[in-house]
Amino acid sequence: MQEYKYYLDGEFKSSSEKIEVIDPATEEAFAYIYQASKEDLEIALSQAKKAQKEWKNFSFKEKAKVLRDIAKVILDNLSGLAELETREIGKTYKESLFVDIPLSAEVFNYYASFLENLSEDLIKTDTGIDLIKYEPYGVCGVYLPYNVPLMIFGFSCAGALASGNALIVKPSEFGSLSLLELAKHLDKLDMPRGLINIITGQGETAGKYLAQAEVDLISFTGSLQTLKKIVSYSIDNPKKIICELGGVNFAVIFSDADKERAIDSLLSSSFMKQGQMCIGTSIALIEESIYESFISEFLEKVKKIKIGSPFEPATGLGPLVSQEHLSGVDRKVKEIISKGNKLLWGGEILEGKGYFYLPTVIELEELVYEEFFSPVVLVKRFREEELSSILENSPTGLVLQIWSNNLKKAKELAESCSCGTVWINTFAQMNAHTPFGGVKKSGWGRNLGKWGFFEYTQPKHIGIGFKKGSAEGWFGV
Ligand code: NAD
Repeated sequence: MQEYKYYLDGEFKSSSEKIEVIDPATEEAFAYIYQASKEDLEIALSQAKKAQKEWKNFSFKEKAKVLRDIAKVILDNLSGLAELETREIGKTYKESLFVDIPLSAEVFNYYASFLENLSEDLIKTDTGIDLIKYEPYGVCGVYLPYNVPLMIFGFSCAGALASGNALIVKPSEFGSLSLLELAKHLDKLDMPRGLINIITGQGETAGKYLAQAEVDLISFTGSLQTLKKIVSYSIDNPKKIICELGGVNFAVIFSDADKERAIDSLLSSSFMKQGQMCIGTSIALIEESIYESFISEFLEKVKKIKIGSPFEPATGLGPLVSQEHLSGVDRKVKEIISKGNKLLWGGEILEGKGYFYLPTVIELEELVYEEFFSPVVLVKRFREEELSSILENSPTGLVLQIWSNNLKKAKELAESCSCGTVWINTFAQMNAHTPFGGVKKSGWGRNLGKWGFFEYTQPKHIGIGFKKGSAEGWFGV
């Protein structure tokens, strides 16, 4: 079995505690990672602090070069990294290869260009000048979720590095391998030793140590439940927390929508990565007049989804990440059906090896605000007059899809709803230059674009006076 060591202060290290990595498609252990200790974290922190002092003095151009080098090693090693992400997590290889990991490289390249075009502000006043400097926070503790590790490494770490911070990254215990493999290539790049550190292990141990540590900022992507723990662990060392959480995401399909495109998009937003996507659709609201025909055409396609090895090009649905997640999803599905909601398709664990769950469609009698994070989509008919209250009452606000050929109506709805991202007649239109993050219980702060740079930056004002200022000598002493 292949071992993957964690990466601290430019060295690959192991501990006596191994964690097996299971292939969710075959249930075979094929690799192991190690549990990092509290002492490891202390080493990472002290080295990251030293590296950060050096890094913050790199010019924008020098930092940009390092970011471009990171993008290049990601792309140069794309197929191997994609293979590891798919083997460990179960999402299809085509998604890892063509979508998730290239997007990470795109984000590093974006911030390289951003820095190459950046200048600090210098403003002339009547009596002097004001300089605005972009200061980093220091060392950032970055938590990654299991579903798209390298993509979120790009989303959070590229902006943090561009702003001059050093990193201690904690990938999920269910999605560590691609980042540890990438570290072997990062290690050869010309950047300060200890600038990027990766600690692995369980959330309750390695994750907890990171929250308790004297890092200057936390960037967390994961569940609300874990965020609450991180907030409590960090109570003695409070710091800024940027957080990207989940969402009960709606797809609103009006009767005047392009039905075929809306159906295809609902398929991808419900079932891509087995529905383990923060931007995935939790609830499809379909306007009453087209509900029956829309659902029957949608179900026709759902029934044809090919389930199997995530490495097969024709596969649409691979396994869920773990046995625990599989059992949890099945339990939740049974529970929601027992409350009088109607199972239209799926709702079963596939027999045999692997953590496979049938693509599942449930018709809701009463609205529930529930994120399944699995191949389960809830569907409900709606009347236009009830729409705004359904959306307003949602506890979360990450993404919303609107499908309508009436752009005026769609734009008005997009503007009125509380949501980080709204897609009109499209899904997953995400780029390195557009802000990404949620409102309400979907998080606070933004990654990507210029917003993702300033989120990790503390602007500093230096005022230089050349003439007597209006407040000087005011007391007449
Ligand atoms: P998670 O909350 O279980 O884990 C996230 C990270 O926190 C992991 O690195 C994990 O090891 C660590 N962790 C877990 N328990 C911890 C603890 N007690 N103390 C400290 N650290 C701990 O999330 P997940 O299951 O990996 O990811 C799924 C969730 O992430 C979903 O809710 C999904 O919507 C969300 N997500 C959000 C985005 C976004 O950008 N908004 C992107 C991907 C996933």
